[in-house]
Amino acid sequence: MKLDISIVCPNCGKTLEEIHNDRRPGCAFCYTVFSNYIEKNLNLVHGSFIHVGMIPKIRDEREKLKSEYFRLKKDLREAIRKEDYEAAYGIDEDLKLIREKLSAED
Ligand SMILES: [Zn+2]
Repeated sequence: MKLDISIVCPNCGKTLEEIHNDRRPGCAFCYTVFSNYIEKNLNLVHGSFIHVGMIPKIRDEREKLKSEYFRLKKDLREAIRKEDYEAAYGIDEDLKLIREKLSAED
């Protein structure tokens, strides 16, 4: 992937190149600024993805994933508000997994 190294986070001053080298964003704002890059490339930090149990109906599972997704979105906002970037990053990873799961079933 081509990196646009001219992008700089206005909050912490990290460049995309630095984030690429560190393999992690500098602050919660980086998630917004570099969201495309982070979603595609930063898979190193382990999230706490909650495994959904075996549910007979796929539709039910999708609904469950969707509600989990919105719950995590709220958690993410809360984590960013509290400046808990470690938590925010983990939640972001969980959100990504759910998005993948949801789109795989389409
Ligand atoms: Zn930043």
